[in-house]
Amino acid sequence: MTATLITGANKGLGFETARRLVEAGHTVYVGSRDAERGRRAAEELGARAIHLDVTDDWSVGAAAKTIEADGGLDVLVNNAGIAPEWGDPVVGAGDLTAELMRGTFETNVIGMVRVLHAFLPLLRRSAAPVVVNVSSGLASLSRVATPGTAAHAYPGVAYPASKAAVNMITVQYAKAFPDLRINAVEPGFTATGLNGNSGRQTVEQGAEIIVRMAQVGADGPTGGYFDIEGVLPW
Ligand code: NAP
Repeated sequence: MTATLITGANKGLGFETARRLVEAGHTVYVGSRDAERGRRAAEELGARAIHLDVTDDWSVGAAAKTIEADGGLDVLVNNAGIAPEWGDPVVGAGDLTAELMRGTFETNVIGMVRVLHAFLPLLRRSAAPVVVNVSSGLASLSRVATPGTAAHAYPGVAYPASKAAVNMITVQYAKAFPDLRINAVEPGFTATGLNGNSGRQTVEQGAEIIVRMAQVGADGPTGGYFDIEGVLPW
């Protein structure tokens, strides 16, 4: 049985990914920073709730101990993320504060490292360990620097910078742990709370690449950056 943890799985893309992986036969841990929201989501999905705030050492450590005691972990989906710059207008370079930057990185980047650090010992005991880091198309320096693309038109700094860091984390962990399949994915612009439900895709469409990379085999890619169409430019 494949044991899978998804951070921030009480709603949005994480919830849909959990639904699909339960369907695929995984034992899914629905990570949620709010215990009650997590309990309700897990009950609806037929999954296990795990209280996990990626910004909190104690919470992440306790979650790792619980999952270890249950039998370990094979797949980690680092999905929890925030975009506090989102709004009308999006906070761009002119109004970016250190506080906004720090808050965004605290969850999207440092939170991801905290979770990786806590769960790597469990993953390394798995016969086929897999990590999916949920990145964004806005992480692509090539796209953001190319006039005419949607990524180029986006004025925010903090969120794209945090996801570019996620891509770098992915590449460096892939080199450090060759037995691990670890990839960054771009779900595409999806209607969720993150963007006031303004995304063009449904969560079913957005979760597709996350679900696919969560099920990658031991001979699959690692250290890559993908959307549903294939490899993306860094
Ligand atoms: P969402 O509906 O807002 O879901 C985000 C999830 O992350 C929620 O469960 C949220 O929990 C959780 N979260 C936030 N801070 C957390 C923390 N400190 N600890 C644990 N969980 C935390 O947004 P989404 O669109 O599904 O986002 C999922 C991922 O996809 C994010 O990494 C996002 O950057 C990425 N992404 C989204 C899009 C898009 O268009 N939607 C595109 C590219 C990438 P609460 O319910 O408690 O807030």
